Amino acid sequence: MIDPGLREVALATKGFMPSDEGDALFDAAMLAGRNVPSLDMVEVGSYCGRSTVWVGAAARSCGVTLYAVDHHGGSEENQPGWEWFDDTVVDPSTGRINTLPFFNDTMTRAGLTDTVRAVVGDSASLGASWASKISFLFIDGGHGREIARADFAAWHEHVAHDGIFAIHDVFTDPADGGLAPYEEIYLPALESGKFREISITGSLRVLQRVA
Ligand code: SAH
Ligand code: MG
Repeated sequence: MIDPGLREVALATKGFMPSDEGDALFDAAMLAGRNVPSLDMVEVGSYCGRSTVWVGAAARSCGVTLYAVDHHGGSEENQPGWEWFDDTVVDPSTGRINTLPFFNDTMTRAGLTDTVRAVVGDSASLGASWASKISFLFIDGGHGREIARADFAAWHEHVAHDGIFAIHDVFTDPADGGLAPYEEIYLPALESGKFREISITGSLRVLQRVA
């Protein structure tokens, strides 16, 4: 289980990770660290750092770095007029969303600044030029079809054999949420033959690399 103090920090942070799914995410990252010791971890889509605290706690305990990838400009559904808009993350000087200061503040409060490194930019471009194998990949970035497809294409090969690939917001019924993470990430991962499913908690699907 995650350190209770860190869990409190996560639960006090703005974002979209329910507590039970965060706990499952922590377990998944710990498993990755046991299966593939000493390889670093990647999160795609950090927002204000809520999920990052659970993954970062596991990375610290495994002695590896967590690279937290986000352009910090918010997803489509975070923009003004959309369902998940929060005006407190808009930078008044530009009128645009900027979650990086919130993310940095969360890492400071969690004491994770030595473990977690923010990588600010477009996730698909960053993934395409990523040069090392990783033990753990968590994709929770843009939920549009093109972005989800590009994230899968850019990142999944970096997961080492026996490593763990976790995907958030996997819904199979459009009444529960958009289908892009299911159809553009989860299904292609299984259909590739490279991953098998090991657990489901809410909308969090945890896969392990097997080939
Ligand atoms: N994991 C977070 C929620 C992430 S929300 C939590 O626990 O609360 C999705 C994030 O993905 C947003 O912060 C958005 O800026 C980021 N994002 C969306 N599309 C992106 C892209 N193409 N490149 C980088 N980041 C992206
Ligand atoms: Mg999510």
